[in-house]
Amino acid sequence: MRFMVSNPIIMLRKGREWQLQRGHPWLFSGAIQQIPKSVAPGGLVDLLDATGQFVARGYFNPQTDIAVRVLTRNPAEAIDQAFFQRQIQQALDLRRLALDLSQTDVFRLVNAEGDFLPGLIVDNYAGVLVVQSHTAGIDRLLDVIIPALSEVIQPKAIILRNDVAVRTREGLEKKEARLVAGDLPADLTICENGLSFGIDPWKGQKTGFFADQRDKRRALQKYAANLTKPDATLLNCFSYSAGFSVYAAAVNRGLRTINIDQSASALELARRNFTLNGLNPAAHGFEATDAFKWLEQAREQGQQFDIVILDPPAFAKSNSEKKKALQGYTRLNRLGLPLVKPGGVLLTCSCTGVIGLDEFENCLREAMAATGRSIQMLEIFENGADHPVNLAAPEGRYLKALFGRVG
Ligand code: SAH
Repeated sequence: MRFMVSNPIIMLRKGREWQLQRGHPWLFSGAIQQIPKSVAPGGLVDLLDATGQFVARGYFNPQTDIAVRVLTRNPAEAIDQAFFQRQIQQALDLRRLALDLSQTDVFRLVNAEGDFLPGLIVDNYAGVLVVQSHTAGIDRLLDVIIPALSEVIQPKAIILRNDVAVRTREGLEKKEARLVAGDLPADLTICENGLSFGIDPWKGQKTGFFADQRDKRRALQKYAANLTKPDATLLNCFSYSAGFSVYAAAVNRGLRTINIDQSASALELARRNFTLNGLNPAAHGFEATDAFKWLEQAREQGQQFDIVILDPPAFAKSNSEKKKALQGYTRLNRLGLPLVKPGGVLLTCSCTGVIGLDEFENCLREAMAATGRSIQMLEIFENGADHPVNLAAPEGRYLKALFGRVG
């Protein structure tokens, strides 16, 4: 069978097509008969099985183990602006289905592989889009992706933030953030579940906000609201802009939160976020310091809190660092557990993709054994609906968040 649209061809080794046919978007270089010499990194290719049948179309990069990432399995579908408009529209429809957009104007609009657009991240901040390209293929396609986003979303502005380290895996440089469409409002404030948060789309971590914790922040509110005693406390380690603390304080005005983050600018934003929501930052604590050291000192001083949150950055980016990451989670939770009052709540998170929930739970068991404390699991969360996972590619399941009562 001939197909309408064609690109340079890559032939697969015999029998290596089945993962792709089942919907996984990655082809590893070992599955290819002959690495093409004439295709530039990021160029489009058509994949054929060993008998010459079309399997998929995607982009190629000889510099990574994942040689091809698939964009379509339809031989008649061209990879052009119309393709991206269709995909972006579907991504938007998912957010409209899963979120209450009358209360929330911050969400991940395109979650790479999870939205069938490998390598592309787009976050929406009240109509300002922040785009991140993780791959050479997406870099080459930005010329059609940016107009497609403009067409479907009609955003106020689009910022390209290719300043992330993952790009180096594809042989790409980190680049300065830049405005690629529209005008940026002087002060960017978003709304999440009815609460307001200031965003720095140029320098803020991730692309400015951790929208992936939205449902966990919401879940936290019931524990915070039920803490009715007058001197209730919440320790928020790795607080960033204090999302968790603002949610908790909004439903329990008497709650005192302590926010620990090594970044002073994150804590500046945190203070502002209290004010934005009619909460007095002076009634809360903010410490720009290393959370591990702070936790050690607090334990020596015998401090304890009704709610403790541990939401560290990823401890590993690849399998080779996995052991170190597991040790990190055990150590962190060993430090955190003693700081929870008996009967209090621990929210402990891991956003390390190469560590599964079972492995994370094992770290918690180690920490329980080492500290003599117990955890009763209350709720477990993963990515959240605007960070969907293609079930054919479970590698996208990076976030684990466990609420437990600590005895
Ligand atoms: N809980 C946050 C997101 C946390 S992201 C939210 O809901 O928005 C991880 C944060 O940890 C970042 O803000 C980073 O500045 C901070 N961080 C990284 N290493 C740290 C360390 N050793 N001590 C304290 N903070 C750290």
